[in-house]
Amino acid sequence: MARVSGGSEAIVRIGVLALQGDVREHLAAFRRAGAEALPVRTAEELRSVDALALPGGESTTMSRLIRVFGLEAPLRRRLAAGMPTFSTCAGTILLSREILDGTPDQLALGVLDLRTRRNGYGRQLESFELDLELPIAEAGSFRAVFIRAPVIEGCGPTVEVLATHQGRPVAVRQGAHLSFTFHPEMTGDLRLHRLFLATAAGERVGGRSLPPAETLLPTEDSAA
Ligand code: GLN
Repeated sequence: MARVSGGSEAIVRIGVLALQGDVREHLAAFRRAGAEALPVRTAEELRSVDALALPGGESTTMSRLIRVFGLEAPLRRRLAAGMPTFSTCAGTILLSREILDGTPDQLALGVLDLRTRRNGYGRQLESFELDLELPIAEAGSFRAVFIRAPVIEGCGPTVEVLATHQGRPVAVRQGAHLSFTFHPEMTGDLRLHRLFLATAAGERVGGRSLPPAETLLPTEDSAA
């Protein structure tokens, strides 16, 4: 089992929500960054991980599949218990408190205090790339690929904006949650995945250390 380098002895198992979207790219990126990474499709698999990545793809389809696979309640329980998340694009939409231009039945898991508009760049800008200044950890300039990306139109006071494009947040951190409207898994640049591993390992990134893993793993019985 991989240990995260950089001083922490914590063993980190990263789950990647594997219902739809660019799952393989995230699994590969976390493994290359030194973590144990496994796909999550069941409540049992979800229980076995320390942290969860929610990939890009299609948030409406993922919402439907989360329900079909019986994952909504287990996911809500783990999130309520403080499980760290790493989310990109559709994953960020799923975790938002409020979704604009979504479908009426799509899940807004509400972990991130964000108001997020799906496909907010419109048809003209379905896909684009740019170099972002990301002044966190070892990031510096970061090549960001946007694909039918959402626009974060509002964020609450506990959300730290890490980078903006056209005056809107495109990278945010809220406690142990790292979220992007672009696709860091597509460029082979592992710095953001590494930053999340450090976060999930309880290192003091952003001035916060995480509760021990046991408290992140509620049993079926104890959970509400
Ligand atoms: N437009 C997609 C959605 O609404 C997100 C696109 C992406 O994840 N690349 O879910």
